[in-house]
Amino acid sequence: MPLDLHTSHIEISKAAYKHNINFLRSFLGEGVKISSVVKGNAYGHSIELFAPLAEENGVDHFSVFSADEAYNVQKASKQRSDIMIMGSVEDEQLEWAIEQDISCYIFDLKRLKQAVSFAKKTRKKAKIHIEVETGMHRTGFDVDEWQEVAETLKAHNDVLIFKGLCTHFAGAEEIANYYRIKQQQQNFRRAKRYFKDFGLEPQLIHTACSAATLRYPQTQGDMVRLGIVQYGFFPTKEVLIHFLEKAKTKEDPLQRLLSWKSKVMDVKNVKTGDFVGYGTSFMAGQPMKIATIPVGYSHGFSRSLSNQGRVLINGQRVPVIGVVNMNMMTVDVTHLDTIEKGDEVVLIGKQGDLEIGVSSFSEFSNQVNYEMLTRLPAEIPRIMVD
Ligand SMILES: *Cc1c(COP(=O)(O)O)cnc(C)c1O
Repeated sequence: MPLDLHTSHIEISKAAYKHNINFLRSFLGEGVKISSVVKGNAYGHSIELFAPLAEENGVDHFSVFSADEAYNVQKASKQRSDIMIMGSVEDEQLEWAIEQDISCYIFDLKRLKQAVSFAKKTRKKAKIHIEVETGMHRTGFDVDEWQEVAETLKAHNDVLIFKGLCTHFAGAEEIANYYRIKQQQQNFRRAKRYFKDFGLEPQLIHTACSAATLRYPQTQGDMVRLGIVQYGFFPTKEVLIHFLEKAKTKEDPLQRLLSWKSKVMDVKNVKTGDFVGYGTSFMAGQPMKIATIPVGYSHGFSRSLSNQGRVLINGQRVPVIGVVNMNMMTVDVTHLDTIEKGDEVVLIGKQGDLEIGVSSFSEFSNQVNYEMLTRLPAEIPRIMVD
């Protein structure tokens, strides 16, 4: 659909990505590979736009949650990058993935045996990552299953490629989980040794997400699975503070890729005592000028930002007043020198000297960055800017 038929659009900055990926590379050990995590439509940035951008910057490995996302990366990829499914692959999906040379996490014996039989059937080797349980208690093989896994890998090494041995940490972004994460690292070392003693060497050892990569560099292994940091956000404030302290700097080294913009839909005056919008949640305490913006909770601007959120118009920060509607909201523009229909509205991003970040946005709405970003509807057009 043409861009100007939409009520808002999202810009993705190429320069910001380049900056982030260079910073991240400087933080990785020698030879550590980056897998770019693009689940959740590339954290709301659009797989279609983001995957080629990452490829232009030398990334050739992508991680997704499911087969549909793998399909989207495959479509968007210009360089036939490696694709890894970290989550759900049900029966036919696994067969499809094997056929397409897409690697998959395997965390149960039934799936492992399926991989063997699909590989035989499709006459393609199955590239698999064995996920071990180390303490997150979500998915992964328990210790008492390792023997059968190892025996299966050995017996079927003609059709199975032991692509990776992996696990996921249960909250490396919070120091409160320090003990648990350390315990997981220890358990993972045990798993590595176990498979090695069996004569099985995975091509890639990978355990670290953004937080672990930064906070516990010893977990980087052969490959790191980087999500949120690529898009310019530290996983939590805690990880940012820890980084700043260690690097002896005050400057956040990451840059946000994403800006979200709309336009003023209408401007009108209200009198003292008038209620604005639905119900009585906002009453004008004096004569006011208000502007409507054609963005509401159906577009991902949370309803909990009612009477709380801020947007930028004509270089000034203006407050959301009243209830955020399904498709629009009202803001107080009484103090702006000029305001007209069609003026640019920045919901996330910079305007003049001011900036609205995703975090201020998500603090008000009690969402974490991850949630706020992935709730931006796929229908809002994304465009690439320099
Ligand atoms: C989402 C995810 C990641 C990336 O997490 P970030 O915190 O965004 O870096 C890494 N590994 C797995 C298994 C994931 O599900």
